[in-house]
Amino acid sequence: MIGTLTNLYTDEFANELICSFANYFLYLCTLNPKKNIVMKLLLISNSTNYKEKYLGWCMPLIAEFLKNEKKNILFFPYAGINIGGKAYPASYDAYTERVQNVFKEFGFKVTSIHKAKNPVEAVNKADVIMVGGGNTFHLVAEIHKYGLIEPVRRKVLEGTPFLGWSAGSNVACPTLRTTNDMPVVMPESFQCFDFVPFQINPHYIDPYPEKINDAIRHGGETRQVRIEEFLAVNQEITVAGLREATALWVENDRITLKGERPMRVLKFGKAPREIKPGSTFDFALNLR
Ligand code: ASP
Repeated sequence: MIGTLTNLYTDEFANELICSFANYFLYLCTLNPKKNIVMKLLLISNSTNYKEKYLGWCMPLIAEFLKNEKKNILFFPYAGINIGGKAYPASYDAYTERVQNVFKEFGFKVTSIHKAKNPVEAVNKADVIMVGGGNTFHLVAEIHKYGLIEPVRRKVLEGTPFLGWSAGSNVACPTLRTTNDMPVVMPESFQCFDFVPFQINPHYIDPYPEKINDAIRHGGETRQVRIEEFLAVNQEITVAGLREATALWVENDRITLKGERPMRVLKFGKAPREIKPGSTFDFALNLR
């Protein structure tokens, strides 16, 4: 069959097809409870709450998620393009150091992919893949530039834990199209890792309360209005509005909402729905 395909289409197309069959197979394995493969994701809305320390609210959750994974945590700093006054590419060192300092306190060792001679090899050797927040367009551009979509996807579907915050959660979705970021660069494609079949909007923010002083009221689109625009032209995709200090803990196809706030689920043509913190649901975001 492969031979026939290669004859019919270009080699490249056949390879892509074979790759996506392989991925689909791995994906099915992750959904088969009889196989001992479990997809493990922690998708965090935001690294830092207002006036709190860096990774303050989420580090205990991360530590719980990583409790048996103290080995080789591979960090992606690609979203960090202006960290601590350092512009890209020096920002990658500054970002890595910032993250390493926090993780060290919890007994974890972090190495950064930007230091690897061969990023794909670094992914293949990683025990955990961790993607930091920042500018999602830049992050996705770098992921494509280094050819990391398929290697990371394969690794994570085989059971390597993946965690990300903010932009790092955006890339767990099919595409980057529900980011809040400015398109500061043009990635080769908007395609992301596609671990979950819905889109996340991190830092989801509710409209100002009615009581607020009109002089300081924001005149632009609310977040919900922006997402409804996305839904108007992507009617089959569901969006999960992940509020500050919340996260999705994914094991196989079972998702739990962590944190104290509800999650807003937006679907085309339907009234928005709220999922309570602590709830468990499936990939269609239906409660279990
Ligand atoms: N800029 C966000 C972050 O902190 C991502 C987003 O809002 O879409 O990573």
